[in-house]
Amino acid sequence: MRYVSTRGGVQGLSFCDAVMMGLADDGGLLVPETIPDISKDLPQLAGKGYVDLAAYVMGHFIDDIPAAELRSIIERSYETFDDSAVTPLVEVGDIHVLELFHGPTLAFKDVALQFLGNVFEYVLNKRGGRLNILGATSGDTGSAAIAGVRGKQNINIFIMFPEGRTSALQEKQMTTVLDDNVQNLAIEGSFDDCQSILKTIFNDLAFKDAYDLGAVNSVNWARILAQVVYYFSAYVQLGLPERFQVAVPTGNFGNIFAGYIARRMGLPIDTLILATNQNDILHRFFTTGRYERGEVYFSHSPAMDIQVASNFERYLYFEFGQAPEKVKEFMRDFSNTGLATTSFNTLNFDAAFTSGRVSDEETVATIARIFEETEYLLDPHTAVGVEIGLAKRRPEVPLVCLATAHPSKFDEVILQVIPDIEVSHPTLELLKDLPERKTLLEGEVGVVKDFISTFNDQLAS
Ligand SMILES: *Cc1c(COP(=O)(O)O)cnc(C)c1O
Repeated sequence: MRYVSTRGGVQGLSFCDAVMMGLADDGGLLVPETIPDISKDLPQLAGKGYVDLAAYVMGHFIDDIPAAELRSIIERSYETFDDSAVTPLVEVGDIHVLELFHGPTLAFKDVALQFLGNVFEYVLNKRGGRLNILGATSGDTGSAAIAGVRGKQNINIFIMFPEGRTSALQEKQMTTVLDDNVQNLAIEGSFDDCQSILKTIFNDLAFKDAYDLGAVNSVNWARILAQVVYYFSAYVQLGLPERFQVAVPTGNFGNIFAGYIARRMGLPIDTLILATNQNDILHRFFTTGRYERGEVYFSHSPAMDIQVASNFERYLYFEFGQAPEKVKEFMRDFSNTGLATTSFNTLNFDAAFTSGRVSDEETVATIARIFEETEYLLDPHTAVGVEIGLAKRRPEVPLVCLATAHPSKFDEVILQVIPDIEVSHPTLELLKDLPERKTLLEGEVGVVKDFISTFNDQLAS
């Protein structure tokens, strides 16, 4: 399988090349040249466990890692999960919840970032060299990225977060990791400041080259690929139904885009039910065909407080019939005016998707109602998906709702509606007594660059 850029300026990459490049050099996103059709294999998937499924699915997209080594990477990536099914499917009332939060940081990002960390390690072992990962986080991505690469040879990770503006728990999940290759940078400023520093540094190609900078955000193709697997896992755990529906709480369009790939491969997903919070640019797109930037609203499901969904460009590329010119035009319009529209039929242009949006009040009401009815506790992100899933589903088709975080990660919201409940998880309890390390830095590009170069110079001497 070769990889190309959605904007046409990069071609012929292998999987490992695509992973190392992260964002395509022409500013686009890397995508596989074709999406393999596996529909004839479906009956053979019955009873397969997670590692077998991952090796099967990923094998279609990776031809530059020998099968035995790929399998070993997959095994190591998911032995850190605390459930042997990796992503167990549980029945909650008359719906199915696919729990994606059994990894080390209790959010679904572990599924992708445990794998990505091991792929980075594999490529560096083979090709030599080093990698300096730079990331910005307002919450879950930072800790999952750190958990994916901590202690690994020839990889350093620098995670910026806005000092004082992440939850105490999320900060602890990062700052209690004391491995030498992990540097937590508490930036004086907002999350937007962190992101803008990140962008400026990645655009400085000389610096990027000199320090072998790598990216872990969801533009990396390996993250999407790892997420395709659990749609297959849901299918197998459901017992190979004729059709099923999946409700996905969405921010960056990464998780749901993986479902779109699975569907295009031939997995019998009837519809992908896209659920947003008040940051509803994607819901508006799927109901009007207009992709229009709005103000960021700070909601009860903070990991989805995103207005511009980076992975959306990948979807457009395939919907536009893999025509980079059309993608470029759309993205140009959007970046110039904050609005882009599609030329394809705007009403019901893609039967793969239906969508809805949920307010904070509805989110907490859903958490309370589901708990009352079933004693199952949803985290606020998962609740957004469940609410829209229930509203949009076809009742005769099984519904799978993706659970993206363990409820204990967002206990403040839950305690607002169910005050007398105990929401805890042993992993988080343990953090309370651990020592922390972070470096407070001014929110200046030069200061962050200096930190990275000084750190590397010290390693070298
Ligand atoms: C990141 C995240 C999401 C959003 O996922 P996308 O791939 O960005 O759509 C949803 N829920 C939780 C808990 C997250 O951490």
